[in-house]
Amino acid sequence: MKITSIILPVLIASLIAIFLLVYTWQRRTMRGARPLLPLLLGIVIWLVGSTIEGLYFDYNSRLFWSNIQYIGIVIVPTALLVFSLYFTDRTSALTRRNLALLSIMPLVTLVLVWTSPWQQFFRISLALNTSGAYPFWEWVPGPGFWLHTIYSYLLLISGVIILGQAYRQSARLHRRQIGIMLLGATVPWLANIFFVVVRGSNIDYTPIAFLITGAAVAWGIFKVGLVEIAPIIRKRVIDEMQEGMLVLDEQNRILEANPAVLRMMDVQGDVLGKPIAEVMARWPELLAQFQGQVSAQAEISLPIEGQETRYFQISLSPLHNRKGLQTGQLIMAHEITQQKQTERSLTEAKDAAEAANRAKSTFLATMSHELRTPLAAIIGYSELIQEKSELWGYEKIIPQLGQIGTAAHSLNGLIGNILDLSKIEAERMDLVCSQFGVAALINDVIINVQPQIEKQGNQLNLKLADDLGSMHTDQTKVRQILLNLLGNAIKFTRNGTISLTAVREKTSDMIQFSIKDDGEGISEEMMAKIFQPFVQADSSFTRVHGGSGLGLAISSRFCQMLGGHITVESKLGQGTIFVVTLPAQLSEPETAVSQSKHT
Ligand code: ADP
Repeated sequence: MKITSIILPVLIASLIAIFLLVYTWQRRTMRGARPLLPLLLGIVIWLVGSTIEGLYFDYNSRLFWSNIQYIGIVIVPTALLVFSLYFTDRTSALTRRNLALLSIMPLVTLVLVWTSPWQQFFRISLALNTSGAYPFWEWVPGPGFWLHTIYSYLLLISGVIILGQAYRQSARLHRRQIGIMLLGATVPWLANIFFVVVRGSNIDYTPIAFLITGAAVAWGIFKVGLVEIAPIIRKRVIDEMQEGMLVLDEQNRILEANPAVLRMMDVQGDVLGKPIAEVMARWPELLAQFQGQVSAQAEISLPIEGQETRYFQISLSPLHNRKGLQTGQLIMAHEITQQKQTERSLTEAKDAAEAANRAKSTFLATMSHELRTPLAAIIGYSELIQEKSELWGYEKIIPQLGQIGTAAHSLNGLIGNILDLSKIEAERMDLVCSQFGVAALINDVIINVQPQIEKQGNQLNLKLADDLGSMHTDQTKVRQILLNLLGNAIKFTRNGTISLTAVREKTSDMIQFSIKDDGEGISEEMMAKIFQPFVQADSSFTRVHGGSGLGLAISSRFCQMLGGHITVESKLGQGTIFVVTLPAQLSEPETAVSQSKHT
């Protein structure tokens, strides 16, 4: 046997092992790389020791390098066990104490190996046979050697059992990865059994076999990402997830299904490998809906007999291999039954509230109407008595009769407002459209409010564009809007100026009315809600100025009904401007505006 044929394989293996060790060391920050380092280091020491031993022919040098190899030999099984524990997420077993316990036997072995010239416990006899071209050891192992061997095997068996368990528990997707590790961990046994038991060779191929282990694991870590996403940890996360997860292969067979998704589908037993169409045969419409779809987001329901229907938000996404080819599909499902129920009860509550509100408005509308009839009698008779009082000799009570009339009129106005608002909210307010001149309407409104303007010491500044022309819309409502706004401007201004401006916007054919005053103004906080019914800036004003807080609410709803809008700008103490914009021609008379459309 030529020396090169003996040394060369070990030398090459050493170089590969050194390369792997350096490579792994440089990538030690990657998950899984660090626990691999002791295993690779052990292999390197073993192989390098073996190579150097092969270069010497004398007893002492060979013994020295043979003993050096034992440092690697004791590290390898321990490191493999530690790696298996780490890989299968049993890091909790790797306490300082346990690691210290694990290092006892290797240290004892090393002491026995190095002191073997002085005791026969490890090597009963040792001689170097130099009769041939190449020297080899002739030796009789002692009990120490067998103890060490059995111990090493126990460690290796434990490692392999741990990996085997992981292999059985892991989902199909990770079996290949764990399979690589298992194979890697088993190869050295064969070599070692061959060397130790058969002792048919003078070269120990065990370190080379372990190199295969190291290489397999390194390849797993760096190329397949074996530990990067430690499969066991990943499986545990997936199993405990609330979200359902299904992985399908290209043929739509189930590759992986976590417990959550099985509960969602109400299936028991093993579904792995079964076609999805078979497992979900109860929901053919669902299968048809997603047939051929690779990526989608949808809300689905899974009716299960004898159970309440459950709802899920699902997402489908394609899975690709390293070359970018689609290899399967990932389906995630998130239960939304609770949300659906809340949504449903909210809608029901809203519908009920709206129905109640409509009922209230209907009641108010009817009641207001009923109130007006007796009120008309009060107004009519108080006016009649007032007219006849002189004739009948009741002069003394004329002022009181006047008060009854004023109070009854104001009550009539209030009831009118309530009636209007109730009709709007009950969606029973109709539009009556007619053609009328804008300037004529404004003049009519001014005549109505003139006495109030003078009473408050205000001045009116009227600016009407020449081209105002005519409008086709509900005249009564436009008049009411203007009366309300002017009425407010007058009410909240004393000894000031009220301006009414009207222009026609040609392009959009809109009429714009601006009602401006330099009175009290409205606070910012108040501005946000003045269009809501029953809102007044300050209730003390009510006593001074009167009013019910309904005028603006009605005006803004009327504007909407007429296809226009109302805006307000104001500064406290500086005055207010309301701008009403209405289409000159109301094309389709909208019958009513519901409260919900109001902004
Ligand atoms: P009211 O019948 O009380 O006038 P409105 O709905 O017409 O009800 O007005 C609501 C409130 O908005 C008023 O009470 C007042 O506080 C405020 N407001 C309306 N117009 C003016 C204005 N021109 N100047 C100051 N405050 C105003």
